[in-house]
Amino acid sequence: MSQNPSSPWIKSTCAYCGVGCGIEAKPQRDGTLSVRGDNDHPANWGKLCSKGMALGETVTTTGRLLQPHIAGNQCDWSQAIATVANQFTKTIAEHGPDSVAFYLSGQLLTEDYYVANKLMKGFIGSGNVDTNSRLCMSSSVAGHKRAFGNDSVPGCYQDLESADAIVLVGSNLAWCHPILFQRIKQAKQQHPNKKLIIIDPRATASSADADLHLAIKPGSDVLLFNGLFKYLHDHGHTNSDYINQHTQGFAANLASVADLGDLQALSQQLQISQADLLTFYQTFANTDKVTTLYSQGVNQSSQGTDKVNSIINCHLITAKVGRSGANPFSITGQPNAMGGREVGGLANTLAAHLEFNNDKHQQLVSEFWQTDNLATRPGLKAVEMFDAIAKGKIKAVWIMATNPAVSLPDSDFIQQALAQCPFVVVSDCIANTDTGKLADVQLPAQGWSEKSGTVTNSERRISRQRRLTVSPGEARPDWWIITEVAKKMGFAQAFSYRHEADIFREYAALTAAAHRAFNTDLNLSGLAEINDHQYSNMPPQQWPVTHLQTEVSHQHLLSDGQFYTANGKANIIPVRHIPSPQAVTKRYPLLLNNGRIRDQWHTMTRTGLSVTLSSHQAEPLLLINPADAASYHLTEGMIAQINSHQSQRAVMMRVSLSNQVSPGQVFAPIHWNNSNSAAAKIATLGQSITDPVSGQPEMKHTPVAITPFVSRSQAILISRQPLVFANLPDSPEYWIQQTIAGGYRYMMASSVDVAALCENLRQLQPQSSSAQQSMQQSEQQVRFIMTDQQRIEFAFTCATDLDVSQYDWFSLLLTQTSTAPEKLQQSLSSVLSDQPQGELCHGKIVCACKQVGINQIHDAIADQQLSDVAGISRCTQAGTGCGSCVSELQQILAEQHSKVSAY
Ligand code: SF4
Repeated sequence: MSQNPSSPWIKSTCAYCGVGCGIEAKPQRDGTLSVRGDNDHPANWGKLCSKGMALGETVTTTGRLLQPHIAGNQCDWSQAIATVANQFTKTIAEHGPDSVAFYLSGQLLTEDYYVANKLMKGFIGSGNVDTNSRLCMSSSVAGHKRAFGNDSVPGCYQDLESADAIVLVGSNLAWCHPILFQRIKQAKQQHPNKKLIIIDPRATASSADADLHLAIKPGSDVLLFNGLFKYLHDHGHTNSDYINQHTQGFAANLASVADLGDLQALSQQLQISQADLLTFYQTFANTDKVTTLYSQGVNQSSQGTDKVNSIINCHLITAKVGRSGANPFSITGQPNAMGGREVGGLANTLAAHLEFNNDKHQQLVSEFWQTDNLATRPGLKAVEMFDAIAKGKIKAVWIMATNPAVSLPDSDFIQQALAQCPFVVVSDCIANTDTGKLADVQLPAQGWSEKSGTVTNSERRISRQRRLTVSPGEARPDWWIITEVAKKMGFAQAFSYRHEADIFREYAALTAAAHRAFNTDLNLSGLAEINDHQYSNMPPQQWPVTHLQTEVSHQHLLSDGQFYTANGKANIIPVRHIPSPQAVTKRYPLLLNNGRIRDQWHTMTRTGLSVTLSSHQAEPLLLINPADAASYHLTEGMIAQINSHQSQRAVMMRVSLSNQVSPGQVFAPIHWNNSNSAAAKIATLGQSITDPVSGQPEMKHTPVAITPFVSRSQAILISRQPLVFANLPDSPEYWIQQTIAGGYRYMMASSVDVAALCENLRQLQPQSSSAQQSMQQSEQQVRFIMTDQQRIEFAFTCATDLDVSQYDWFSLLLTQTSTAPEKLQQSLSSVLSDQPQGELCHGKIVCACKQVGINQIHDAIADQQLSDVAGISRCTQAGTGCGSCVSELQQILAEQHSKVSAY
């Protein structure tokens, strides 16, 4: 990579999770982007997790949507804008404003979100604008509003350092919000008495570092926290002054927990030991500074809002709210879920934390936007919205920066709904998402590194996302696309912005007006009149912002005990445990939980492009307890078929035996979809059961049945080009695509025999008159390789049974080029003999500069008994080049040592 000394490091924000880490990026002469952590950003103070570190790898034109398309045909922007505007206008004229909808995303910037919401609620006159954040944290929003009167997150990340006990509920923070977890770990090292308590039915990377792990029965969080509420009361740990002065509803919830049994009965219901339960309750009761972090494991539930309130209730009665180290703290999943909440991206709010159910709020927004067509009632929430599409009530939908055909539960139904919708518009930077394939109009949006605007993280900190690279093709900012359509629909006066700074100032001014009139928590008055230069250079701002913050601010909300309810008191909401409506049955006897893996993000449209991130876990793994695996005749590495009441066809994943999941439960990752797998889209299994208050779907509690897939052949294949299996006469029932250096690797299993599968696979090889082919064949195994111009193009090995873990070296084959003929020869021999030779024995490359593979590093650590990265570098030269692999070396060292100590 050639450095470009003239270009400075540009500060921006990571594209992925709600931690909102600051990055610095520098475009390189070869078109790549170098990325490092921003030492000045208070979310991460210079650190990045593996996803953040690999951001530069995902800046590529591979798979990009580069031009607008109408009905699959390329067109120019004016045609595309006119088509969208005309079709929406026509649909509204014929069927009314509620016949159209926008489905947005926590990946959009606040400025994009703001104008989309303004167009739909302010000028089209419908509330039908919702977001994929509905799937992420809408239960937390609803819980905050019920308890505090506003969607107020009282905490700051500094609480992770200042708390004496951290309770982590329904979150594998170590993988899903890694930088926050690193902050907790570091704080624990500095203060060994700090306690970390994990509440999660599954053992995870997070629970490995915990003082206490409560693997409660799935879905029983309300029971646990109601038990805590009762314990705090019964043992005199409540704060009566605070309860009397600042809350209401205490007696009502006391009544609702009165019939909970004693600790023994409760621990039995929760399926944990009484001693562990008591330790948790005593720790919470006796520790002044407790911060409870919660995430999707709490939110994605048919009782998600009650779960949130059961947690907040315990904090309220002990006055653990709004103080340093003492807060309930919802951690958002997406980079700008919080920004969406601020501007009204959810169908049931107006904008700037103003509500539909208040005439004065409506009046303020109408006057501010100068519209007489403001929507006067909430629109349809995500699941309802797609139901309405399926029923034909919504006839035109515009989906921006999200992939609901993969991410919403019962995704086959979602796909069918979109397929039959009269008009579907999809704005995305990626061309062939599962949703994009169903679009009538595709609009090329800018990618993360091209966009400019703001995002807000989980601690209310607004950070600038800055433009780092030029946009390829015809890609445009989302806010530009939306405002162009708005102008074409006749709303030019309200949508004529010069650039994103204009939009931001208008949004900040709306919050200021709302705060002045109604004392709302969200107040950006200090940013309403910043000039373009100040906007461009704006350092992170934590709201409320009454003046442009030039120093890092760490403010808590609700510190004065004043809440945003009518009388200023917080509501203690009476809640009772309600078992999930989805119970296991004889037919579906296992409970499926799902979540993220460390190095992938959402539907993999971006992280799936990274060779580094894709090497962490090449295939989706179904974690199953060994006892259950034996019952269902599954062994390690086998392919399992997973069915639910909902699924029209089985999901297929490779089995991994694990004691992390309890008997009766299984766990699967959420990321794979129809673009990179035959049948690994986990959302096809879920039912659209939602929380009655928030509308958030229950995603983590699905009864399933599991059977082995009996294959007659399996294969590993590499190709420089992505492959299309659909047209094969016998497409393998199981295939997974993995991005590797130079192309793609595929893992496959099929019900046809080896000869038939080979015949199929050979049809996928690229056509070239100069190609050379070599093959080794027996009844049990066929090895095939195709080269062209002294370069490997395509190769596979196919057998009745394959141990995929032995074929990491296939990932390196495409890097063997004509500039090194001996490497090519070694590769040919390796494939044909089924034995890696030369550098291929080294395993996947960890140090790119010195070409050091993982097997070499493992051998050096074991043979030389190495205990630090310096030793690895001394023995193998790994890490002595650019140094970017040093953190990976550290990780390998730690993993190898932990394996040794586990034995
Ligand atoms: Fe990005 Fe989240 Fe990792 Fe930070 S923790 S680098 S925001 S993915």
